[in-house]
Amino acid sequence: MTTMHEFPPTATSSNAAAVTQSFIAGQSVASTDTFDNIDPATGQSLGPVAAGGEAEVDQAVTAARAATRDWRRVAPAARAEILCRLADLIAADAERLAVLESEDTGKPLSQARNDALVAARYFRFYGHAIDSHYGHTIPLEPDTHAYTRREPFGVTGHVLAWNYPMQLLSRAVAPAIAVGNCSVVKPAEETPRTAVEFARLAQQAGVPDGVFNVVTGAGPQAGSALVDHPGVDHLGFVGSTEVGSLIAHAAADRVVPTVLELGGKSPQIVFADANLSTAAATVARAILQNAGQTCSAGSRLLVQRDIADAVVADVVQRLQAVRMGPGLDDPDLGPLVSRTQQRRVQSMIDAVTTGEVVLGGTAPTDPQLSAGAYFAPTVIVGVDPTAPIAQEEIFGPVLTINTFDDEDHAIALANGTPYGLLAAVWTRDLSRAHRMAAELRAGQVYVNAYGAGGGVELPFGGFGKSGYGREKGYEALDAFSATKTVVVTL
Ligand code: NAD
Repeated sequence: MTTMHEFPPTATSSNAAAVTQSFIAGQSVASTDTFDNIDPATGQSLGPVAAGGEAEVDQAVTAARAATRDWRRVAPAARAEILCRLADLIAADAERLAVLESEDTGKPLSQARNDALVAARYFRFYGHAIDSHYGHTIPLEPDTHAYTRREPFGVTGHVLAWNYPMQLLSRAVAPAIAVGNCSVVKPAEETPRTAVEFARLAQQAGVPDGVFNVVTGAGPQAGSALVDHPGVDHLGFVGSTEVGSLIAHAAADRVVPTVLELGGKSPQIVFADANLSTAAATVARAILQNAGQTCSAGSRLLVQRDIADAVVADVVQRLQAVRMGPGLDDPDLGPLVSRTQQRRVQSMIDAVTTGEVVLGGTAPTDPQLSAGAYFAPTVIVGVDPTAPIAQEEIFGPVLTINTFDDEDHAIALANGTPYGLLAAVWTRDLSRAHRMAAELRAGQVYVNAYGAGGGVELPFGGFGKSGYGREKGYEALDAFSATKTVVVTL
């Protein structure tokens, strides 16, 4: 049984009814139509959003193209200073940004605050990294000088998901503009506001107009126009595997390099020799984080048979105690991002035929939460590992649990989905930890941990249907630049 509490509000609503508009070449740009930004905690509108489309995208890409010539010639040290100034401005404004993000997404305010600080860290990290992003010299003949240069592609287009809007934007735009590209961002329609605020702060930090543009609007209009625009030289996409595949097709038609950061079905594997209470606490926290709407959510618990009952009981007890409420009240668990997402989660649970729902399984019954897109923490044991609930991304606070007998069995279950984003191994046996890390098909493997804050420094990306290319860490600088080799006869 989930306990619900009422909280005194800890933050003030933004009360923002002004139209959220695109930000192009340093200016707010209106669109003919608008759509409502719906607060998932109440179902009410947070204000209108400009429905950008082909015209706004073309304006933004043209502005970005015009800015590339000068921006790529700005010395890396000067670019570094600007990016660090932007990091300072984001950090100083974290509280206001967190309120906007919490309202748009429904996420608890403290998580939104952390997201703002992680976003600042991306700009600082790539600011610090860019003036040491060296090329190589290559020894050839004595009278030949060969070297490589890392060059920007030109205009980068970024189509983003709604679950971590500030972080997703920063981890893409910071490295992209650090290496000298100019960017056009299309935020998700559910969460447009912080992207526009970031573009404004970038202007204040000294990012030249046209280097960082935002076009608000719907995926099939603004998103699709950006993906198809002939002036875009590189595409970054964060979102579902289905739309990612569409983007990859469009990029292939134009032979444009692409980074795809898609969905996940990440396993947490708990062996009997692990510190079980730390493992259970982390498993529970990882599925509550952002209401399970995290690409890298640890949504599958695989637990060794002998200890399964004890671990499941511990996890269930922790999830039973969560406090649900609007994001601004900073509960443990906020609403899902939308009614659509709530219905999707419910329909996936309703379709379960093998397994037992031992916790949750529905929206909460508390009438105070009925207007929002809430979903109770849910645990399902003994699911068929080949069933959709164990194979497909749920994107809700829903944990499925299976048992395993030995390492081989654990690896077969862990690698038995089309995805490969994260995995965690809980064990005190160091040799087993490294054996498992080598066998698991995942872009990141954690041992006795899950996730690492924002993971700004850690290369991140998927295998299989979790996508390709890497963001974060130094690898993102390579992802957003191309190597040019220069050979000179002396
Ligand atoms: P989505 O694919 O529905 O939408 C993502 C973005 O694509 C949005 O901006 C949307 O407007 C746009 N879009 C939709 N249709 C489009 C089209 N036809 N052409 C161009 N753009 C289009 O995904 P979502 O529901 O916003 O986000 C949830 C998904 O994102 C989950 O699958 C999650 O795992 C994934 N995600 C992955 C990562 C990662 O790093 N791997 C991070 C966050 C989220």
